[in-house]
Amino acid sequence: MKLNVIPDEKVFQCNQCGSCCSHLRGMMPREDREFIEKMAYGKLPLVQLVPVEKMTFPLFDWEAKRFLEWQHEANIDGKIKPSRAILDLKSDKAIIVTYFMDSDACPFLKEKKCSIYYTKRAYICRLFPFNRGPFLDVGDKPTKENMFGTCCAMETLMPLIPEDYNDMLNFLSNAFPDGSFENAVQFDFINEWLNKTIIDLMRKKIIKPAMNYPYSYFMKRFENAEKIDFSDFLEQSGYIKNKEELIRSFDNNAQAKEKIGSFLQNNYQR
Ligand code: SF4
Ligand code: SF4
Repeated sequence: MKLNVIPDEKVFQCNQCGSCCSHLRGMMPREDREFIEKMAYGKLPLVQLVPVEKMTFPLFDWEAKRFLEWQHEANIDGKIKPSRAILDLKSDKAIIVTYFMDSDACPFLKEKKCSIYYTKRAYICRLFPFNRGPFLDVGDKPTKENMFGTCCAMETLMPLIPEDYNDMLNFLSNAFPDGSFENAVQFDFINEWLNKTIIDLMRKKIIKPAMNYPYSYFMKRFENAEKIDFSDFLEQSGYIKNKEELIRSFDNNAQAKEKIGSFLQNNYQR
């Protein structure tokens, strides 16, 4: 099959308007919000630690660690706090899985510019204008209408994106030289990996998460428990040998590259 060749002027170019970084709260799809309100306050192993209306985007624990370093270098208070955790009755520890920045606008945004733009920012910073990638199975099929957030730089590109799923993927793999497409695919992969890993830890009886506790009781237990980050826990418990190796493979988008590459090979024989 013939490849779509995208002319240079028809690829995505972020104009650094800063809009996606200036409204961090409440950018969640309605279905996600309803699910969180119903299930994430104690009915699942992974418990939401902040009211849904306060939530901003998630930082994986190793990303939060980097942000904590950069905030010192940039002399900024990133307002970084835990957002989701497992209360493990077996180790008696609170395992922190994600963090968030407790702020309406990102504290690193200064005069409409990201003050840490040239660092390895969080996935969520690097995947925009995507909200999700095209491989994520959440019930509704990914389409060009439900994959993107509100971004002025998408206006000219959107009509060019093919409706057909395979053609759309081929187009997307060429049209985002900033890496946002690959980052979106990797972000979805890591979220799926997180969920599968928690289930596997339970199956192997490495953790026993507190579930169905009254929420206020859960929060009191959480506050008093010794805290540990998820990736540190995986290494300490022997579930993984080397967390740096794991993080490096995530940083390199290893799984996204493989997924996109095999899709294109199977469908477009690159
Ligand atoms: S991704 Fe879009 S909304 Fe965000 S800074 Fe770039 S142009 Fe603006
Ligand atoms: S760290 Fe930079 S890119 Fe990420 S949300 Fe903040 S201002 Fe935007």
